[in-house]
Amino acid sequence: MNAKYREITAQLKQKNATLVAVSKTQPADAILEMYNAGQRDFGENRVQELRDKYEVLPKDICWHLIGHLQSNKVKYIAPWVHMIHSVDTPDLLEEIERQGAKCNRVITVLLQVFIASEETKFGMDDEELMDLFDSGWIQQLPHVQVAGLMGMATNTDDLVQVRNEFGHLRQLFDIIKRKYYATDPVFHHLSMGMSSDYLIALEEGATMVRIGSLIFGERTATK
Ligand SMILES: *Cc1c(COP(=O)(O)O)cnc(C)c1O
Repeated sequence: MNAKYREITAQLKQKNATLVAVSKTQPADAILEMYNAGQRDFGENRVQELRDKYEVLPKDICWHLIGHLQSNKVKYIAPWVHMIHSVDTPDLLEEIERQGAKCNRVITVLLQVFIASEETKFGMDDEELMDLFDSGWIQQLPHVQVAGLMGMATNTDDLVQVRNEFGHLRQLFDIIKRKYYATDPVFHHLSMGMSSDYLIALEEGATMVRIGSLIFGERTATK
């Protein structure tokens, strides 16, 4: 396995953080190579590609859906997905609850928060997020476990800005944890950081980083 992969897993181990190897656009054999080196958590951003890979790869892989999810596609991944990082509306949560009930499992999700200064990224804003927890129903869904928050920083060379955005997400995470999960350990994941900014994310308290190109090599097609 490549040196970068080893370096990153060593850094993460020190911080007790989890690597989600982002395998979008990568062929099954590249994933299998990393699997054979011990990697079990893989992330994909498209449902169809995720399903295709789930079919052909070992069944003990923990598959993370990290990209935008349309409600009508939840049913395809509900029976086996390990974690959905990109829950960005109450409607989507309701559909995940419905599909979780159908296959009789509790689906673990993260709520995606919009922290960047770009127009193009998905996620809830701070107010929508707090309203959702204040309403109380999110903590009571029997087939959805809200395990934390996810965010993507602005794609910029301004590292101060990136740090501020991650720091802000960390603050939100701490507030929610203290206010709504003081006696319940399930809310414990903060998914932030990609190839370009994972070290900053770790310093700001990420428990999970999503890294693709740095360990697999540059993607030829950008998805
Ligand atoms: C592609 C992707 C990543 C990983 O990006 P890299 O720059 O290749 O590390 C992380 N998170 C999400 C949501 C992605 O779509």
